[in-house]
Amino acid sequence: MTHFSYKRDETSSINLQQLYRLFDTEKRNIINVLQYLKLLSQSYRCPVCNQDMKLVERTQLKDRYEWQCTKNNDRDILEHHVVRSLREGTWFSQSELTLEQVTLLTYFWVKELPLKFVLEETRISSGTVGDYFIYCREFCDIILTQKENKIGGEKHIIEIEESPFPKREYHGDKRIYKKWVYGGVDRETGECFLHPVENKSAAAL
Ligand SMILES: [Zn+2]
Repeated sequence: MTHFSYKRDETSSINLQQLYRLFDTEKRNIINVLQYLKLLSQSYRCPVCNQDMKLVERTQLKDRYEWQCTKNNDRDILEHHVVRSLREGTWFSQSELTLEQVTLLTYFWVKELPLKFVLEETRISSGTVGDYFIYCREFCDIILTQKENKIGGEKHIIEIEESPFPKREYHGDKRIYKKWVYGGVDRETGECFLHPVENKSAAAL
C-alpha cells in the first residue's frame, strides 16, 4: 500500500495527481483524508447513549465503513445497536457513485473542466455526470440565496451591481450563460450578497 498523507498547506491546492495517488490507497485512508478536508464528519454522537460512535469496517458496503454504537453489557445503559451511514448529512449523501467518483466529479466541476474531458476521464455516463453537475449548481444557488437573506434591513443603503454568472448549460459543445447575478453591498455593515435571477426582465427583480 502506498502511504498518502497531507501537509496542512497542501489542502488549498490539491491537484489531480494527488487525488489519483490518494485513490490508489486503502479506503480507510481515503476516508481519513476526506474527514481531514471536512467533507466527511470526524465523529458522531450516538442518539441513544450520547457517546461517540465508532467507525467500523463492513466489507460488504460500497464505502466499506459505517458508524456504529453497540451496547449490550453495560448495566447503566439501555441495550442498543445503532448504525449510521458514513454519508448521511454529508456532500456524498445524494449520490450512488463511489466516494472517489464524487470527489473527482466535484473537483472537475469546481475547476470548470469541459464536459467532454470529464466523460473521457471518468468513464461515467453523460446522464449521471449531467445530473451531478446540476446538483452542484443547485447547491451553490441555495448557498447564495441563504447568504442574501441574512443581510439588508430597513434604512440600510444597498449598492447593487449586475453581472453574468457562470451558470452554464451545455448544448452539445456550446456553453450558454443562463443566469444573471445581482450583487449588493450594505453600506452600513459592509456585508455583501449575491442574488441569482433567471433573466434580466424587471419582473425577475
Ligand atoms: Zn450508543
